[in-house]
Amino acid sequence: MINIEDYNNENIFAKVLRKEIPSEKIYEDDLIYAFKDINPQAPVHVLIIPKERFCSFKDFSQNAGDNLVVSITRVIGKIAEKLELKDGYRIITNVGSYGGQEVPHLHFHLLGGRPLGKLVAES
Ligand code: 5GP
Repeated sequence: MINIEDYNNENIFAKVLRKEIPSEKIYEDDLIYAFKDINPQAPVHVLIIPKERFCSFKDFSQNAGDNLVVSITRVIGKIAEKLELKDGYRIITNVGSYGGQEVPHLHFHLLGGRPLGKLVAES
């Protein structure tokens, strides 16, 4: 499992935050950045990330300040409202290899715009 010491400044979302690679911004404030996923799995697929460096939800849940934990929750809700996901949506954060996490900077997926089916694919 990745931990805070392992944060890699060269991960793709660190580069997005530094504007070294382009992204389609949905929302930004002092603490949080949200942008469209490059490979959307639904009509709406937004990634919401803290600007502070956390490898995963494990790291974030143990080490983030209360203000950030509350802010990111509120921002996800605000974005869902702004995108008019009236019929519902799904929030996912993948952790580590079993969770299917590919990018080691904490991110929440916000998915919607169609019925999303079962939570976990049959294996
Ligand atoms: P994970 O599997 O780590 O939970 O999700 C990583 C997500 O990042 C994937 O949905 C993938 O499509 C998205 N992604 C990977 N590289 C880029 C990129 O360069 N730009 C954007 N906007 N999304 C990316």
